[in-house]
Parts: sequence; C-alpha cells; structure tokens
Amino acid sequence: MPATRKKIGWANWSGNESAPSARVLQPQNEDELRLALLTAVQPIRVVGSGHSFTPIVSTSGTIINLDQMGGVVSTNPAANAATLRAGGRLKDLSVELDSINLAFRNLGDINVQSFAGAAATATHGTGQSLGCLASEITAVRLMLANGNIVEGTLEDNPDLVKAAQVSLGALGVMLEATVRVCPAFNLHRRTWAEPIDAILDAALVRWNTHRNFEFFYIPFSGYGINIAHDQTDASATERPPSEDEAGLAMIRSVRNKFKWSTLLRRKLLATGLKRMTAENVVGPSAKLLASTRSTRFNEMEYHLPVESGLDVFREVVSYIEAKRRDVFFPIEVRKTAADEGWLSPFQNAPRISIAVHTAAEDSYDWLFDGIEPIFKAAGGRPHWGKLHSLGHNDFLALYPDFQKFIGLRKQLDPDGVFMTPAIARYWEEGQ
Ligand SMILES: Cc1cc2nc3c(=O)[nH]c(=O)nc-3n(C[C@H](O)[C@H](O)[C@H](O)COP(=O)(O)OP(=O)(O)OC[C@H]3O[C@@H](n4cnc5c(N)ncnc54)[C@H](O)[C@@H]3O)c2cc1C
Repeated sequence: MPATRKKIGWANWSGNESAPSARVLQPQNEDELRLALLTAVQPIRVVGSGHSFTPIVSTSGTIINLDQMGGVVSTNPAANAATLRAGGRLKDLSVELDSINLAFRNLGDINVQSFAGAAATATHGTGQSLGCLASEITAVRLMLANGNIVEGTLEDNPDLVKAAQVSLGALGVMLEATVRVCPAFNLHRRTWAEPIDAILDAALVRWNTHRNFEFFYIPFSGYGINIAHDQTDASATERPPSEDEAGLAMIRSVRNKFKWSTLLRRKLLATGLKRMTAENVVGPSAKLLASTRSTRFNEMEYHLPVESGLDVFREVVSYIEAKRRDVFFPIEVRKTAADEGWLSPFQNAPRISIAVHTAAEDSYDWLFDGIEPIFKAAGGRPHWGKLHSLGHNDFLALYPDFQKFIGLRKQLDPDGVFMTPAIARYWEEGQ
C-alpha cells in the first residue's frame, strides 16, 4: 500500500523555511514507510512538527511525516524505562505515560514536537542534573534508506545509540526509542521578577538548588523573570491562565511607542515587571514545564561553556541595548547536564544556553551580524534546530566525534537518500 495523505508543499512553524515543491507523505505503518523510502522522489527528509528554524527538513524531493506512528509501545516501571514510537508528539506521549503513572524526567519550553524530531536536534529544558531529551535514549530502532531495520542498546551497540541520539535525521528514520522515564511527579512552580544583576549573582546557586531553574531577561528593562521548579508531594493547586502572551504584547507595545527613549522604556518596563503577578502553583510536571507559544518567532540559541555563559549573556545584552532598539523578545537562559551523544551540544560537559528571538515578521540579520560572533568567540555550540551559520569545518572543531558520525552516516546511507544541499553543508568537506 502506498503511504496515505499526499500533498504538495510544506512550511515550518515560523514560516522562515519552506519546501513548496516537496511531496508530503504520511505512512500509517512500517510497511508503508518502507515503500515510501524505496520509491519516493529523493532527497527524502523526515519531519516531526516542523518546529526547527534551520533548513534540516526542507527538500525538493519528499517529506515524510510520522504522525500516525506514535504511542507508547511498552514500559518497564521497575527500570524506569519506556519504549516509544518516535513519531509520537511529546504532549500525547506525556498523557499516555501519565495514565500509567510515568513521566518524562524533563521537557523543554513546549511539548508539541515529535519525540524523534526533538531528540534529533538535542532539544533540552533546564536543570543542572537533567540532560537533553536525546540523552535519555538507551536503545533505538531505525529504518534505513534501503528499508532495512537496525537496532541497538547502549550495552550492545553504544556507537549506534550515541550517534542516533542527536542525528538530524541523517542516519535513518527513528521508529522507536527506549528512554529513561520516572514515576509521575508534581512540581512546585515559582516565578518572580527581579533586577537582572541580582539574578546573575544568584543564578549558579539557583541552578544548584532548584530541580529546574531558568531566567528570561526583558531587554531594555534591567529586569528578568526567574522560573524555578522543585519536586513536591503536595497536591496540585489551581493555576491562573498564563500571562506570557499578554506580557509579550506589553513589552512589544512599549518598544513600538518608546523606541526613541531607552530611559523611558526602562522605567515603563521596570514598573510593569515589578507589578507582574508572581506564580506560586503546584501541578503535574508535564503541565508546568511546557508552555503554549502562540506568537510566532525566529530564534538563535547557542550552548556555552558554564564558566563563561553568564559573561556571554552580559555581552549579548550590552550589544542589544547599545545597537538594536528594535529588540523586545525576552532572552532565555537555561542550563543542561552533560551527556555522551556524538552530536549533542552537551557532550562531555554541562552548558549554559542563551536564546535570542525576533518576531517572525521581523528581519533577523542582527542575530547573525551581532550575536552569533559573540557566541562563536566563546566556543558556543549552536542548537541544531535554531538559526546559525556554521558548516562542516566549524563542527569538526566543536565535536570530537564528528568524523565518526560522518563515517557512520556514509555506512548507513551510502547513496545519500537523506542528503539535501543544506544538510551536506554539515557533512561534506569544503562546505
Ligand atoms: C515555539 C518553539 C519552542 C521551542 N522550545 C524549545 C526548547 O524549549 N528547547 C529546545 O531545545 N528547543 C526548542 N525548540 C526547538 C525545537 O524543539 C526543535 O527544533 C525540534 O527539533 C523540533 O521538533 P520537531 O518535531 O518539530 O522536529 P522537526 O523540526 O520537524 O525536525 C527536526 C529534525 O528531526 C528530524 N526527524 C524528525 N523525525 C524524525 C524521525 N522519525 N527519525 C529521524 N529523524 C527525524 C528531521 O529530519 C529534522 O532533521 C522550540 C521551537 C519552537 C518553534
């Protein structure tokens, strides 16, 4: 049976990436997927929810969507492990896990991504002792471009697992992953505004003391917002509706009206932020960790060495406040634990991540001109799904196992079925 639901054309969430001529297929099962891989117009790319900003899905050939291939396959609560169909969305998998009293140990800012898509780019949340989503994978099952299936566990084929954890879909299609999970748990969430200097003074201690800690800085305000989550046995409390979108609209409107006076802008924003309602609620982890983001944006995020991360943040803020009065989106700062994935930005050491955003309808040249050089000079590794300009030579220098990954990629996809010009920039010399 051919893969069902064919359409032409695809665009990502923010609209900065598109593939107008791509055929989009949605196989219902492994047989349909195999047929699609063997017969579809190449190059073939797999898509999750299309929430990446980099050209890692776009192709002139075929895009394969695995929305029909999700769900929990099996669990082993005694071992805190669950095997998932990797096309499933994190939000659906979270609900399914919760129904059997299990949960992901951590989540990022949203949960609409597919498990495989999120893992493929090293999607992360925040937490000093918590790795990125991909680092939770202990076993994988992949379908290769020729339809064959390869599988392995960290014990019997560590190379395959460590390469497949963060793979940008370059090795094959991830069908299933066994991941570390934990018993379902409640979190106590607190958010509060504070002068940014006080946040910076306390940040390292807060990462140390809270299960999950991050902060957002509101440009031109002098103020940031702390978000801390800690595990609790307390029962869930009522959570008022999120004020995030209203807050974003407020800081955008202050930017629009008072761009000409940074002094006035600072006063207005600081007053607004001081009056912000602090959150103090208890709820299930999956509900509190992930948010809903309806304002579309584009984003650059680099993962910095912990020693320099906060200094780099200061440099980024100085650049923006000196040169870019148009910027209004909060800057997000998080920390993630070390892991062993060959292409994980957190390989071998924890990192502090700094994310800079711009409204989807605004230009983002300044991210490349002004911000990326600061990140690069500090030895930052870019988020694989977020805007960056790096290519083959940069990655060779940044990732000790990059060459090994390229070797395995050639072995598993010798005909370059999953290779597009944009992806070749990463793997091929001279790019
Ligand atoms: C609003 C928003 C919030 C975000 N928040 C965070 C955050 O908190 N933390 C963070 O780290 N990132 C975040 N991101 C980035 C996002 O998590 C990543 O870009 C992620 O890869 C998107 O998942 P996806 O399912 O949309 O994958 P896609 O963007 O569709 O695909 C990503 C990659 O995965 C590959 N892929 C997809 N499915 C498979 C498969 N089955 N087998 C093999 N390869 C596959 C694709 O080919 C592609 O290379 C955010 C993005 C947005 C737009």
